[in-house]
Amino acid sequence: MNIVQNAINGQRVTSTSSNRVPVFNPATGEQSAELPLSSVDEVNAAVAAAKAAAPAWGDTPALKRARFMFRFNELLNQHADDIAREISKEHGKTHDDALGEVARGIEVVEFACGIPSLLKGDFSRNVGPSVDTVADRKPLGVVAGITPFNFPAMVPMWMYPVAIACGNTFVLKPSERDPSAPMLVWDLFQEAGFPDGVLNVVHGDKLAVDTLLDHPDVKAISFVGSTPIAEYVYKRGTDAGKRVQALGGAKNHMIVMPDADMDKAADALMGAGYGSAGERCMAISVAVPVGEKTADALVAKLKPRVEALKVGPATDSDAEMGPLITKAHQDKVLGYIDEGEKAGAELVVDGRGYAPQGYEEGYYVGGTLFDRVTTDMSIYKEEIFGPVLSVVRAKDYSEAVDMINAHEYGNGTAIFTRDGDAAREFADKIEVGMVGVNVPIPVPVAYHSFGGWKRSSFGAHGMYGPEGVHFYTRLKTITTRWPGGIKEGAVFTFPS
Ligand code: NAD
Repeated sequence: MNIVQNAINGQRVTSTSSNRVPVFNPATGEQSAELPLSSVDEVNAAVAAAKAAAPAWGDTPALKRARFMFRFNELLNQHADDIAREISKEHGKTHDDALGEVARGIEVVEFACGIPSLLKGDFSRNVGPSVDTVADRKPLGVVAGITPFNFPAMVPMWMYPVAIACGNTFVLKPSERDPSAPMLVWDLFQEAGFPDGVLNVVHGDKLAVDTLLDHPDVKAISFVGSTPIAEYVYKRGTDAGKRVQALGGAKNHMIVMPDADMDKAADALMGAGYGSAGERCMAISVAVPVGEKTADALVAKLKPRVEALKVGPATDSDAEMGPLITKAHQDKVLGYIDEGEKAGAELVVDGRGYAPQGYEEGYYVGGTLFDRVTTDMSIYKEEIFGPVLSVVRAKDYSEAVDMINAHEYGNGTAIFTRDGDAAREFADKIEVGMVGVNVPIPVPVAYHSFGGWKRSSFGAHGMYGPEGVHFYTRLKTITTRWPGGIKEGAVFTFPS
């Protein structure tokens, strides 16, 4: 059995922990690896390696740090296909989708290559007589990232390229469900020539996370995962005096206005609702057509598309969506479909009981479509994280907007319309962090920043882009006066 290793101080090391969990291939239901849950000592060793590497790395000129990133970027591009295969094997997403994930991760590395200009700082001459001010951004030291299963390569790369380019060293605790892709990426990172200890990876569960949250040498925590854990990480990490950014779950709505192109809206909902089997924090899980006629037309367009959805393993190049991550998650999603039906929603397409031929033990759920969902139902209120799209009919635009604003989550949202006035007002007023106008999944590019509102995000900073640079650095402002001022004698008042 393949044992997933840690990576500490430039070496792959096998954990001595006897506490081990299986890793599965969700397409077949077979176990593909075993993952030791690292002990407190092993996590401490990773932090110690990062701490030892931090001073020299922080003092390395930004231009030189960027050159390592350029090499890393090249290697990622050369091995994108291998990384994508590794993702699909343990996550289950299609190869093309996994390649898209790698591409979005690479974009953050490209952003990090520009770190010399991003860290340039501000300078003001003559803020007072013979007084100059420099505002500089310094690295924090050791920072850590804790990541979810749904983007095993990309979400870690939202964090460490920026953190490391800023001069920090990093400890990554990836998801225990698909740990191999981040290890392959770590191999490429080492091959790029970064000094040992700059990036370390420890696998584990709550114990490893708590050890990082409480560790006095870890100065900041980046977390992405479900909302209850994000909130827990935020509270425990900030209690320990750390900077924390913790991104949580989502329930993303897409408004379809009566003037929208219904075919385009339906196609957008197919990709955004069912891509990656709905296991995306930016997936659209609620369609909100405005008016009964719009709703009837939209559901009529969606039904045949959902019925025709090709579900299968990543090895099938025709598959448009793969299995869910685990048997437990498959059961949870099936449970939500049962609940929705019992609560009285209209089950237009039922994905229960589906498995591709020859893959009966895989964790599949077919594309599922509910109509006439109401806001009191659990399938509306909670994040399902599966291929289940709910249609909630709104009588007018205001009702649609009020519904979105009242939801506890505020990660992403979209409006499909031809009307500039409605689109502009929506973008301005909606209480959601990432907004798409005729764009169903408005994930910001790497040189902007990613982040939701409300219970989709805890902490003040978004991930990557300028927000990432601010999160991973602290401001130092230096005020300098050279002889000519002080030689006249002591000054006891603010200069005016
Ligand atoms: P999860 O919360 O179960 O796990 C995330 C990480 O937290 C993992 O590394 C896990 O080992 C760790 N963890 C789990 N339980 C813990 C506990 N009790 N104490 C400490 N650490 C713990 O999330 P998941 O199922 O891997 O990922 C899916 C979730 O992530 C969804 O809710 C999805 O919306 C969310 N997500 C959000 C974003 C975003 O940007 N907002 C992006 C991707 C995924």
